[in-house]
This record gives sequence, structure tokens and C-alpha cells, in this order.
Amino acid sequence: EEREEKEIVVERPAAEPVTATEIKVNVSMPEAAERAAKTGADGVGLLRIEHMILGVGVHPRKLIEEGEREKLVQVLMDGIRKVADAFYPKPVWVRTLDAPTDEFRELEGGEREPEETNPMLGWRGIRRDLEERETLECQFEAIRRLHQEGYDNIGVMIPLVQHPEELRRAKRIAKEVGLKPHRQVEFGMMVETPAAAVLIDEFIEVGLDFVSLGTNDLTQYTLAVDRNNDKVAYLYDEKHPAVLRLIKHVINECKEAGVKTSICGQAGSDPKMAEILVKAGIDSISANIDAVPQIRRIVARVERKILLDKMREF
Ligand code: PEP
Ligand code: MG
Repeated sequence: EEREEKEIVVERPAAEPVTATEIKVNVSMPEAAERAAKTGADGVGLLRIEHMILGVGVHPRKLIEEGEREKLVQVLMDGIRKVADAFYPKPVWVRTLDAPTDEFRELEGGEREPEETNPMLGWRGIRRDLEERETLECQFEAIRRLHQEGYDNIGVMIPLVQHPEELRRAKRIAKEVGLKPHRQVEFGMMVETPAAAVLIDEFIEVGLDFVSLGTNDLTQYTLAVDRNNDKVAYLYDEKHPAVLRLIKHVINECKEAGVKTSICGQAGSDPKMAEILVKAGIDSISANIDAVPQIRRIVARVERKILLDKMREF
């Protein structure tokens, strides 16, 4: 089956500024693909797949045990295809499943989810994916088949890694289902734990095309502030100097190694943060659909200012 050739239309209105920093968009539901593409964004910096799976209503492990593995692969293919198609040929970075136990317990067969006192510090992201290996295989299998259909604009990113070994194992599983990281798909990771930020050079050694800063989690783990706890919400600050220092460290190390840097946390939709990130040299910013136009204007302004300052120095 071949992907239908379609005319590439640049939908960005003529008045929108062009930026050197790519402005991308976050997509959590395939249904939002068209609306997201209409922003003229340079790609999808985060495609979440949790809702595609929650939409089935059955725990993926139960599906697999009951011989319905193919159904899982198809659901993922349909959801990802919709977004990859709306954005083609612009890149779409698909994040592998990042499901906390409390959300997956609601599914049919979800009673098997372990009870945890703090799900945010628990069994989610790549930790779950490496143990529920078959579910991860289905995700890579869906992307492999889409690549075969002609969608060469899909990338993969791994959530919540805190040790290079997790990244290495995820990559090995991708290869085992016949999906070739770096060659067929861009392969990246989320930087969401202080461990990943501090040790970024060791993650780079595993082989990375890009990293994306997941500042929602990076902030909560750096500051020890549960992002879902109202009582301490006043302490939650993505611009806390410790968070900014980690971010700058990651961008610097990645720049030196030729690894692309991006952000897909909520902070990417914050104008002040966008300014900080552009000054730090980030390659792309992925914002919420509604925030894309404003972030693009701010980034253009900051880039212009940086350029003027350089010219004055010259
Ligand atoms: C993040 O942690 O910044 C992120 C984008 O992932 P999520 O919000 O889905 O945890
Ligand atoms: Mg996260």
C-alpha cells in the first residue's frame, strides 16, 4: 500500500514571520491533527498516544493476551497516520506510551495495575514499556508499517528515561521488530528527569537524533513538587534557576554533539520561557495549538534582537 501523493500547501498566512527556530505543535488526539496543521507549525514536537489506547477501553496487555495484538497495532496506525498525513512531509515525533497506573486502572482489565502511593514517581513511561514489552513492540510495529506505507516523516521519542541503559534497551526492541532507528525514523528521548539532564552526555553516546525537554515533569522532579498537588502548586516554577540551569546544560551538550534540541512541555507555550530558550540556542519549540501564533511572533522578535545585538558588536 502506498501513501497517496498530495500537494504540499503552505498554510501559514503571508503575514506570519519566518523563524530560524522551528515552531512546532503538540498533539494529544488524532482528531486535532487538521487544526494543528493549520497553524502552519513546522511539525509535531510531541504526539501523545495515550488517548488512542484509552479510546479502545481495554488494557493493552489484556488485548494482547486475548490474541488481539493486531487490533492494538491498527488503532495506533490509524491514529498516528492521521497526524503524519496532516503534516506530511513535516516531522511528527511520536512519544512511546507514557501511562501512569492511576489512568490505566480505569480500563477493562485495568485492575492488574499496581496500587501506588505516588504514581508520578512510579510505574510509567519507559519503565512500564520495558516490562510490558509486547505493548512497546506493538508501538514500534505500527510505526514500522507506517514507514512502509511511505510515511518517512515519523520520529520516535522515549519518555521518562533516567538511565542510558533504558534508552539502549528501547532502541534494541525497536530494531528487533525491524524498525531502524536513525535510518527509518528519527530517534530521540524526552529529558524529564534531573538524572537525564545531568547525564545527558552519556545518553548522547547511546545515539540520539534529538532530545525534547519535558519541562512538566522535569520541573516537578527537580523541585520535588508534585505537578498534581494544589497544596504546593505555588512552588511549581518552570523558570526556577535550577530547572533553567539543567535546560541550558542539556542544550549546550547537545549542541556540541550535533543532537537537535526541542521542548514539548507546557513551558514551550510561555512567551518568557520561549525567549529564554531561543537565547539558549534551542532548535525547536513545540507549543499548544492555540499558542503557536504568539510563540512564533515572540521567537521572531527575539531572533531579530539577537541578530541586531550581534551586528552592533561587530
Ligand atoms: C512533560 O513532562 O513536559 C511532557 C510533555 O509530558 P507529559 O506532560 O505528558 O508528562
Ligand atoms: Mg512528561
